[in-house]
Parts: sequence; C-alpha cells; structure tokens
Amino acid sequence: MPDQTFIIVGASLAGAKAAEELRSEGFEGRLVLLGDEHERPYERPPLTKDYLRDESPREKAYVHEEGFYSQHQIELITGAPATALDPGRSRVTLGNGRELSYDRLLLATGAEPRRLQIAGADLDGVYYLRTLADCDVLRSRLDASPRVVVIGAGWIGAEFAASARQRGAQVTVIEAASVPLERVLGPEVGRVYAEAHHDNGVELLPLSGVEAFEGNGSVRAVKTTDGRTLECDFVVVGIGVVPRVQLARDAGLEIDNGIVVGPTLVTSAPGVFAAGDVANAWNPFYERRMRVEHWSNALNQGPAAARAMLGRDVSYDRIPYFFSDQYDLGMEYSGFATEWDQVVFRGEPAGGQFVAFWLKNGRVVAGMNVNVWDVNEHVQTLIRSRTEVDLGALTDLDTPLQTIADQGAVTGPSA
Ligand SMILES: Cc1cc2nc3c(=O)[nH]c(=O)nc-3n(C[C@H](O)[C@H](O)[C@H](O)COP(=O)(O)OP(=O)(O)OC[C@H]3O[C@@H](n4cnc5c(N)ncnc54)[C@H](O)[C@@H]3O)c2cc1C
Repeated sequence: MPDQTFIIVGASLAGAKAAEELRSEGFEGRLVLLGDEHERPYERPPLTKDYLRDESPREKAYVHEEGFYSQHQIELITGAPATALDPGRSRVTLGNGRELSYDRLLLATGAEPRRLQIAGADLDGVYYLRTLADCDVLRSRLDASPRVVVIGAGWIGAEFAASARQRGAQVTVIEAASVPLERVLGPEVGRVYAEAHHDNGVELLPLSGVEAFEGNGSVRAVKTTDGRTLECDFVVVGIGVVPRVQLARDAGLEIDNGIVVGPTLVTSAPGVFAAGDVANAWNPFYERRMRVEHWSNALNQGPAAARAMLGRDVSYDRIPYFFSDQYDLGMEYSGFATEWDQVVFRGEPAGGQFVAFWLKNGRVVAGMNVNVWDVNEHVQTLIRSRTEVDLGALTDLDTPLQTIADQGAVTGPSA
C-alpha cells in the first residue's frame, strides 16, 4: 500500500504502538501520528510511581527513543490537535486549519480526568493528574513536604497518595466508599490497601465526600460533606476519567461510553478505527462491549487496530489486565469482574503476599496476584476455561496454580 496514507489521532501508548506495528507489518505508505500534547508519546504509569517520586529519569517514560519516529518515516506532529473529522470525504482537519486526507484513520484519543463541579473547583492548587506536564507540577509541589488532600481512592488517587507519602507529604484521602479501590476490588481486597495506607501514615476518610474548596485565589482548605475542614497546601482530584469522544461524536460516529467498535476495532464509519482508553470494543470472549482504561489494553489494542487497518483478520478478545504499585505492594490483576459471589485467598493477605480470586458460580472471573509473580498466565487460563474450580486446591499453596489451570484448560467449560 505504498500510495496510501494512514493517520493516527492521539500520540500516546495506543497510537504509538499502532504506528510501530504498521511499520513492522510492512506498511510502506505515508504514516502520520498526530498528538495534541507537546511531548512525543509517553507512558502514564510512571506519573503516579517512580517518575513522580523522582526515582526514574523522564527518558524512561517515553514509548520510543527520540529518533524512532523519523527512522521509521512516521510523521509525528505534536502540539497538533485534530479538530474535525469528515469520514465522508476521508479528511481530518488540524487546529491550524490544515487538512489531511487519509485512506485509513485510527482514533486513539484516550481519556481525560473527570472534573469536580463544586464551589472552589477552579482555585489554584486544585490539580488533576493525566499528563507529564501535570506530573511535573506535582513533583515540584511535593518538594516542599506539603499537606495534600486527595479526592478519590481509585487507582490514580491511591497511587498518588502512596507516592506523596513516600516523598514526605502529609496526606489525607477522601473516599466515598468504605475502602480504597472498592469499586473494582470489593471490600475484602480493598481492605488490604486501606491497611497499607494506614500503616504508611495516610489519613483515610472513608464514606465521605467533598463539598467545597476554600481559599482566596489558591486552595487552602477542603470542606467535607460531614462538616470537616481540612487545611491543605494543595489538592489532587482522582475521580475517574471520561473518554475523549468529541472529535468522533462531531463526525457522527456511534458513541456509547466511548467510541463503539466491533472486535475488528472498526468504528461505525468504514476505514476509521479506534483503540485504547477511548474504544468501547466488543470482546468476543465476554460477548459484550467493554472500555478498558489500562496500560496493557492500549499496548495491545493499538497494534491490533493497526493490523485491522492493513486488512488482516483481527478479533480482539484479550482478558483485561492491569498492574499497580503502592508502597511495597506490587500487583497484577486479570479479569473483568462486574459481579461475583465469592472472594478467596491463596496465601495470607496480612502477610502482603497472596493471590485473590473473584468467583461467580464456582468459576474464576478475576484474579489478582500481590507480590507473587509469574502466575498471571495461569490466572488467565483459569478465567478462559470457565471451569468450576476446586476451592481446596485453589487456596492450597502446595498445589501449583499451573496444575489447577492446566486441569481447567483440559476440562473446558462446566455446564
Ligand atoms: C497517572 C496515571 C497512571 C496510570 N497508571 C497505570 C497503571 O499503573 N497500570 C495500568 O494498567 N494503567 C495505568 N494508567 C492508565 C493508562 O496509562 C492508560 O490506560 C493509557 O494511557 C491509555 O492509552 P491511550 O493511548 O489509549 O490514551 P491516552 O494515554 O489518554 O492518550 C491519548 C492521547 O491522545 C491525545 N488526543 C486526544 N484528542 C486528540 C485530538 N483531537 N487530536 C490530537 N491528539 C489528541 C491526548 O492528548 C493524548 O496524548 C495510568 C494512567 C494515568 C493517567
């Protein structure tokens, strides 16, 4: 396809990995990667972890080395938002009015933080954490051993709180649920994180909300819904993200909690694909659509979309996977558990080394290994097998997980 032009909108993980895949799969045409940030593509996980704590160089966060894009004839244009898309004419317009035509286009526009709409929300010192630029501001504010209030104990809030504590900040976390990360992990496993934050000196205010930010120009205090006033130097809000669908919506593409795509990652407009945080994709294994806001989804779905753009057979059916590091708790989670009726542990949660399993009707729907490594593949095999598992074996440290997983894989789905 040497005469064709492929355009990728969104120069972050999904977009950059898609561009890499197009070249490694032999696409010889013109390849344009548009990003509205001023950075070349980088990964976001370090922004709540080692980079935020000043333990790793900025260079380590980038997806590729600086010369990668020119070496592979990828026209990376940064600081260049795509402002309009016309699928009928196969054209995309940039912020400076320039128009580009394409043969295939990938939307990898990601997500952005959900904003708090309360009194004082626009005061200086109320921060969100999504970009390297956001992180640079927070890094320098953490230099002064500040008092920080974190709103929300989801992944971003919980990881930021951990890193801020490790940098010597005084940290209070306001969370609507009873424990951190409860929406995804449930109370049993969320409790492990509540204890870790508590043991590390974070003041956790569960079952509470925020009413207003107070200050004269800059935030100086947070008023909670139960009447407390928490004095602070700054605030970090982590209350989830929303997919960046404006461009797609204005272009008339089907939108429903993200850009709707099938298993081949094509949108409702022929020749236009979507991947990463922005895509609400039909997953054939789960037989439902899912929008996954995790690193590994961007890492794998971007290249899958690239192969689909090249006309290859694609059916994206990966089991969602993510990781998190907080204090000395390193973990990996596999699965997509929206409901479960049982949680069991293999190993002692209090010991900080265990695997938790979420089960529904005796079958594993998700698993999370904490400070236990090289088991994620077995957890995924168990989920895929859809087999009823022997709970005695699953929770017995002397029965290798691989044995149980292999058994499930052989037996196949239970009726
Ligand atoms: C601080 C932080 C820590 C994280 N830690 C973890 C972790 O530990 N584990 C994990 O699994 N996941 C983690 N994640 C989630 C993970 O980073 C995301 O799932 C991933 O970045 C999604 O990649 P993406 O390419 O789909 O979208 P994004 O990373 O959101 O990138 C989309 C890009 O498109 C650009 N863009 C949007 N609209 C336009 C436009 N119209 N024109 C041009 N460019 C546009 C955006 O500016 C952005 O650069 C973390 C996220 C954050 C913010």
